[in-house]
Amino acid sequence: MDRKKFLRLSSFGLAAFPMPLFSKSVNKPIVISTWDSGMPVNAAAWKILSANGKSVDAVEAGAVYIEDTIDCCVGLGGFPDRDGIVTLDACIMDEHANCGSVAGLEQIKHPILVARKVMDTTPHVILVGQGAQQFALQNGFKKESAELSESAKNAYKDWLKKNDYKPEINIENKKENGPFAPHFFEDGSPNHDTMGLVAMDVDGNLSGAVTTSGMAYKMHGRVGDSPIIGAGLFVDNEVGAATSSGLGEEVIRICGTHTVVEYMRQGYSPEAACKKACERIVKRDPKKAATLQVGFVAMNKKGEYGAYAIQKGFVFSVKSNTENQIHTSKYLL
Ligand code: ASP
Repeated sequence: MDRKKFLRLSSFGLAAFPMPLFSKSVNKPIVISTWDSGMPVNAAAWKILSANGKSVDAVEAGAVYIEDTIDCCVGLGGFPDRDGIVTLDACIMDEHANCGSVAGLEQIKHPILVARKVMDTTPHVILVGQGAQQFALQNGFKKESAELSESAKNAYKDWLKKNDYKPEINIENKKENGPFAPHFFEDGSPNHDTMGLVAMDVDGNLSGAVTTSGMAYKMHGRVGDSPIIGAGLFVDNEVGAATSSGLGEEVIRICGTHTVVEYMRQGYSPEAACKKACERIVKRDPKKAATLQVGFVAMNKKGEYGAYAIQKGFVFSVKSNTENQIHTSKYLL
């Protein structure tokens, strides 16, 4: 390559960042997801990835899987807001920056499929509340019962006894349960565990999906980071993809996953990019950051992955041709 051409490429950042075009060993297909609950989610996504399917279909399948399981923090089995209502948030994004999202969706079993419908069939990105539900019903989704799951009912009853509303996220290490234990509040109840996953398919294309019932006992109408493109999920097919879990308000403030992807664009590894985003949150308000948890996971175009969290206790799950395991995230504080 002559010097002029090299300089031209450098000015676009191409020479500074090893693009997949020049890379011989891309780790694909691969799927990574938040938390230990990501293991069966990855397995659902892997069925599609290993059959040479598209990453967008794989992440959707992973999200559908977890929405079907009774869980504190995802799907209709999730914990309610402070008015006792389960409201669901979900989003999906593909390699073309197509994206769809729903927020505050009630009584619909698979918010991720509604988000996919928003992406595939409307000119919009986000539908919320009543409008999202109306759209779902018009598209053949069934309205489910508003009754809480048994575990959610019990947890909500306990919470009502205190009823001291603080938009607080639990920190896993406050409970001495070991790194892979569920994510408990200090009194023993879990209050967040959003499922975010990103995948690269055999064609090297990236997609991501997020699904959650959001932070337990939130204000009715509150929207977290999870359904916000650039906060809870971001995909740039030239660079990489990232997703998050933890206190959504703090992730939104720094456009968390977009920030992670932009750091990867600058040449940072996925882990270093996640760390830089965590540092931004801590730097803004170190005192507050000491009381909350945020974790990011990211993947670049080579199929390299990494994570970082503010506090101890964040774990993530990885499935590729060479591994199928839970990793413990490094942390800042
Ligand atoms: N990020 C979610 C929210 O703020 C909480 C979670 O990670 O579960 O609603």
